[in-house]
Amino acid sequence: MRKVPYHHPEQGLYTNRRRWVGLSFFAVLVGIPFLVIDGASFFLFNFTEMEFHLFFRVFPFTQFYVLLALTFSFVALLVYITVIWGRVWCGWMCPQTIISDFLRVFEKFWLPRKNIKGLQKVFRQAAAYLTMSGFVLVVSLDIIWYFITPYDFFSKATAGTLSTFALGSLAVTFLVTWIDMVWVRQSFCEYLCPYAKMQGSLFSETTTVVAYDQERGATDCTKCMMCVRVCPSGIDIRDGLQMACIACAACIDACEPIMAKKGKPTLVRYWSESKIPSLLKDRSLILAGLGVLAFLFVIWQIFFKVDMAVSLSRNAAFTGKHVGDQIVNGYILTIDNLAQSEKHVTVSVEPAGFKLLPPVENYLIRGTETARLPIIVETSNENGNSGFILVVRDDTGYQKEIKQGFFRGK
Ligand code: SF4
Ligand code: SF4
Repeated sequence: MRKVPYHHPEQGLYTNRRRWVGLSFFAVLVGIPFLVIDGASFFLFNFTEMEFHLFFRVFPFTQFYVLLALTFSFVALLVYITVIWGRVWCGWMCPQTIISDFLRVFEKFWLPRKNIKGLQKVFRQAAAYLTMSGFVLVVSLDIIWYFITPYDFFSKATAGTLSTFALGSLAVTFLVTWIDMVWVRQSFCEYLCPYAKMQGSLFSETTTVVAYDQERGATDCTKCMMCVRVCPSGIDIRDGLQMACIACAACIDACEPIMAKKGKPTLVRYWSESKIPSLLKDRSLILAGLGVLAFLFVIWQIFFKVDMAVSLSRNAAFTGKHVGDQIVNGYILTIDNLAQSEKHVTVSVEPAGFKLLPPVENYLIRGTETARLPIIVETSNENGNSGFILVVRDDTGYQKEIKQGFFRGK
């Protein structure tokens, strides 16, 4: 177990604010998998059905670009925030930090500051590990619920029909999360997190960071070491900004009462070298703009997207065949029903002189299902040089037209 920072401040402006932000964000993360309306989740990856749910709309995996757009908008926002406010995400909202803080509360409760020995020590350490493991189990379950809704999970678990894959995934998630949260903790931020590695190139003189006032520190610092002892990353902020700093502001809250006794402001504070916008900041603004566009695209996909996606591909086995004085071309017509409800689909070809075999009328496609129909388009030798239009209509009146060249063969 990592060394417990027993002096982690209980109170303080930033500690209190971080506590509420962390609790609220954690509640949101735990609550999201429970948000289900008419079988559609707020956010869910369903590998069994090859679909994902976003804001109560169901998308097939073929529309993964919507998720990529959402990820891009999130990354762009994160980059913009980093350029302006440094690693405020790390210290205030990253689940790695929030959960580590929760576990620290358990440690502080079971492993008090005074020296404990013998059986009492063993009991308290066991209790600390047990409560932390229980909490990690809740976190692991929550992660799994983003792939199988908690309602499905509980009904299958009580019926004893939870798949071996789901149980195995839960076991692996628990193991990885336990190692990460109980052992690795803030070392992850320093050595493994790609975002932490990126921050060096994002910081500029306008970025707000947690910094120590070297000038005042030379005379005012009491060398009490409180700022060092509270640091979850185990660094000394007086040595300057370091990659391991997650901007949690615990050192600010630690120094504040020490300096207050001397009637002076804290030596550690949120600070930026310059308020003048830099080129990097302007570039980040462009990135933020692209992020907003990507987010608007996602909103459009969620609220205004059409419920049917249609594509046509050649079926080589039936392409350019001559049957008497007719030529036939074979295709595979793929229709994705993106809606939750079933659709009846009718397909026709234009102009006159082209014929669809077999006719497709009132073809039923269940909600979120994909139909792959082998079809043949037939026409006479004279029409063989021109193309045709395939018209796909559903029972809501939506119509999709596909222009297609015709292959005459030899
Ligand atoms: S130096 Fe201060 S802000 Fe940075 S991680 Fe340590 S306690 Fe948090
Ligand atoms: S908490 Fe403040 S006074 Fe104490 S060592 Fe850190 S900077 Fe100096």
